[in-house]
Amino acid sequence: MTLTNSPIEQITLFNRNIYIKRDDLLHKDFSGNKARKFHYFLENDFPNIDTVVSFGSNQSNAMYSLSVLAKIKNWKFKYFINHLPSFLEEHPNGNYKYALLNGMELIVDEDFKMTKYEPKENELFIEEGGAVREASFGIEQLANEIKEWKKENNIQNLKIFLPSGTGTTALFLQKFLDDVVFTTPCVGDSEYLLYQFSLLEKDSSKYPTILNPKKKYHFGKLYSEHFILWNEIKKSTHIEFDLLYDPIGWSTVQEHLEIFQDGEVLYIHQGGLLGNETMIERYERKVSVLKK
Ligand SMILES: *Cc1c(COP(=O)(O)O)cnc(C)c1O
Repeated sequence: MTLTNSPIEQITLFNRNIYIKRDDLLHKDFSGNKARKFHYFLENDFPNIDTVVSFGSNQSNAMYSLSVLAKIKNWKFKYFINHLPSFLEEHPNGNYKYALLNGMELIVDEDFKMTKYEPKENELFIEEGGAVREASFGIEQLANEIKEWKKENNIQNLKIFLPSGTGTTALFLQKFLDDVVFTTPCVGDSEYLLYQFSLLEKDSSKYPTILNPKKKYHFGKLYSEHFILWNEIKKSTHIEFDLLYDPIGWSTVQEHLEIFQDGEVLYIHQGGLLGNETMIERYERKVSVLKK
C-alpha cells in the first residue's frame, strides 16, 4: 500500500478563504492522521513481531487504523478497553464494528493500565491514540507535502491549524515546519496538552501555539452547537469533517479569526469519518428525545 500526496482544496468559510489539507482522502482504508502516525510501521519490516497491542476507547480512530495496519502486515491485533457498553456489544457500529471485521481481538479489562503492560518479544506496543515517536516519520512527510505546495503556489505567510487529542500530530508538524502551527485541546485542557507535548519533546520552544476554545468541552460529549456547526460546514463546503475533534477545531478558529487575518490559513483534515456513523446516531437520538 502506498500513501499518496493528499490534495489541498480551497473553501470559503467565516467569510474568508481557507485551504484544507485533505488527509481524509489519503487512502480508502488507511487515512487521516492515524495513517500518518502509523506510516512508519507500514513502511518498515519487523521480523520479530507478529502482534500489535494497544489500548484506548471502544470507538477510537486509532483502534480502527491499527486493525487495518495489522491486516496488511498479517499481524494479530490485541486491543484492551476498560469497558464495553452492552448497546455497542449488541449493535456494533463505526470504528468498533470495522475493527472487529478486520480481526481485532478485543480484551475488556476494567483494571487494565497501559503503563503496567509489558510487551512480549513478539509484540509491538502502541500508546493510546498513537502517541509514539515513530509517528514523526509520517508527519514529516505531511510537512514536506505542505512545503512543496507552498513553493508551487508561492505562499509566503502561512498559518496552519489542526485540533489536538494527544497533540502528537500538531507537535511533529511544528517540528518540521517554520510556519506557525496552531492547535486547540479537544481532550483535557491546555495544561494537559502541554504535558502530552513534553512526553515527546523536551524543548518547549518548538511547541505548537495553543488557542483555547471559549467554552470548556468534555471529550465525546454531545453539544448541539457542534452538530449545527458541523452540518453548516458540510452544507456550505461539501466536505464532511469529523464530529469529535473538528467542531471544537472550527469553533476555535471562528473565535480567533483575528489571528488569521493576514496571510493564508491551512486547516488539516485529519480524517476520522468512520467514527461519525456512531456520533450521528447519538446526535439523532438526542434530537428525537428533545422533540418528544
Ligand atoms: C486522532 C485524531 C485527532 C487527534 O490527533 P492527535 O495526534 O492525538 O492530537 C484529531 N482528529 C481526528 C479526526 C483524529 O482521528
